[in-house]
Order: sequence, then structure tokens, then C-alpha cells
Amino acid sequence: MNILVTGGAGYIGSHTVRALVNKKHRVVVLDNLSKGHPAAVKEIELVRGDTSDRQLLKRLLTGCNIEAVMHFAASSLVGESVRLPSDYYRNNVVNGLTLLDAAVEAGVRYFVFSSTAAVYGEPIEVPITENHPATPLNPYGATKLALEGAMRWYGEAYGLRYTSLRYFNAAGADPAGDIGEDHEPETHLIPLVMKAALGLIPQLEIFGDDYPTPDGTCVRDYIHVNDLADAHILALEAMAGGAGSNIYNLGNGNGYSVLEVIETAKAVTGSSIPVKYAARRAGDPAVLVAGSERIKDELGWRPAFPGLREIIETAWRWHSNHPGGYEK
Ligand code: UDP
Repeated sequence: MNILVTGGAGYIGSHTVRALVNKKHRVVVLDNLSKGHPAAVKEIELVRGDTSDRQLLKRLLTGCNIEAVMHFAASSLVGESVRLPSDYYRNNVVNGLTLLDAAVEAGVRYFVFSSTAAVYGEPIEVPITENHPATPLNPYGATKLALEGAMRWYGEAYGLRYTSLRYFNAAGADPAGDIGEDHEPETHLIPLVMKAALGLIPQLEIFGDDYPTPDGTCVRDYIHVNDLADAHILALEAMAGGAGSNIYNLGNGNGYSVLEVIETAKAVTGSSIPVKYAARRAGDPAVLVAGSERIKDELGWRPAFPGLREIIETAWRWHSNHPGGYEK
């Protein structure tokens, strides 16, 4: 299939691009390179541009005979979204609508969307299933939920079929070791723990130790980036085989606290990881753990890296071989 991958030079996008190419799909990446890295998509057709550019979208979608869009391009930091809601609504909702409109106009049949566990807000029960109420605690989650709503009604009115994948905490790197997580600035827990293990930052700050969790630090469900990539392909294949639109959670169903992540990283890296306790970060729920039975039952998704240790091992391979990231 001919597939446009927005944000394909980013972390999750680039791992999905690799999985798509391995499956012999033709991929065109659209990325404004505000966060993405050309080195993450070597030998892939990369167009530098923005999802706000309707004319560019039209040219790409029709000129490349695009049948499916995978939409990763978005702003994705919880804390930043609380400070800059305008940026988040513009990039994630307004530009997302521009892309949906262009896709409908060009006759694109399938749309796979990067959504997030942040749509759920503070869970009233865990594990969180897709039927859990969606009441986001931050603009990041709210903007992702807004685009899900649009996709639903676009589907009803215009026939666009979509799958929304609500990721829990994406982590790890391709075991090949040549692509991985490289954000500037880095705010995510596992890459920061890796940097602390390498001595690239003096210490890791732990955001809050008074959450209602066993050790007081936040609990998250970490999922390997290649398992996320596989889910995108399963979603696309299911729609191409006649399945309707759907929403799926993606996590391993196991929660790990910030302290447990640090302990596991110490064991994997053999390094000490100095820590400092800091205030809670705005917009962080105490516990996010996925119920991912729906995608297992309906699409046969099975994680290849279900355990935290193996996820951190692949992250460590990337970070220890690329301590400065892609370009440095
Ligand atoms: N976290 C932390 N220190 C850091 C970065 C993150 O204690 O330097 C915590 C954060 O509060 C959250 C968890 O680690 O509970 C995962 O955060 P991350 O930013 O990796 O992912 P998010 O849950 O925001 O998607």
C-alpha cells in the first residue's frame, strides 16, 4: 500500500516506518523536523513540511496515490501542554483537521491515529479499558480526544475508516540499535534515566513522592516502541481486510513506579543513577495501566517485549551507542 506517515522522522513514527518498509509498503514521510531526525528515516522518501499546509498535503496525497495515512505528527508533552494550550490546540486539533480534510478530499481510505492514555485522565479503575470515561487532565489528552471525536464524525459522514491507538508509555528502541528516542529537550523518564546512567545529566528528578501508590511515585505502563509499530500495521491490515473503525488501548498491563524504573535501569546499566526528589509535575495522574485485551482479541496483537527489563535493555543499547543522539 502507499502510505503517508506524518511525523515519520520522530520516535514512534520512525519505528513504524521501519516496520512498514519491512512489510514492503511504500512509505512517504511528511515531517516538519521540529522534533524529527532525518537520520531516523535514512533511505526513505522524506518531505519536509507541515500538516498545516493544505496545498502540500493535497499534492502529496494525490501525487503519491496515498491509500492510507498514519498520523504521528503532534505536540506530545503533558507539562508543556498545560503551559501552552494554544499551541497544542493549533497543532494537534487545527492541523489534524486540515489533514483529515485533505485525506477525505483525496479519497484516502484508511487513517491510523496516534492517540494516548492521557485521554482518560485520573482513572476511576485500573486496568483502564477503552470503555473507561475519557476526561483528560491536560490539554495534550484533550486535543487527542478532540481529534478522535472528529474522526468519528468524519467516518460517519464521509466514510473515512480510522483506527485510534491510545498508547500508554512508549519506551525502548529497535534492538538493531541504530534508531531510538532522541528528544530536545528530553523530558521522558526512561531516556533521562539512561542519560543519568551515562553521566550526561547530574541526577534524575523524581516528580512527586506523595502519590497514592505503593512507593509514592507515579505508576506507568511502559510499552516497547516496536510493539506499538506492529499494532499500527495490524490496524491497517484489519481495515484493508474490511474491519470498521475502532479505538484500541496499547500497553502491557503492568504498572511500574518511577522508583522501579530506576532500580531496573541500575541493574541493566550497572551504573548508579543519582536522584533528587522534586515537586509533582502538572497534569500527571498517579496511575496509568492499560487493559489491552481488545486489540489482542480483535487484531491478535501480542507484545514481543512485554517486560520492563527487556524494554530498558533496548533503550540502553541505543543510548549507550548514541550518547548525543542522532546528529551529534
Ligand atoms: N518523571 C519523573 N522525572 C522525570 C521525568 C518523568 O519523575 O524527569 C515521571 C513523570 O512524572 C511520570 C513518569 O515519570 O510519572 C513518566 O513520565 P514521562 O514524561 O516519561 O511520560 P508521560 O507519562 O508524561 O507520558
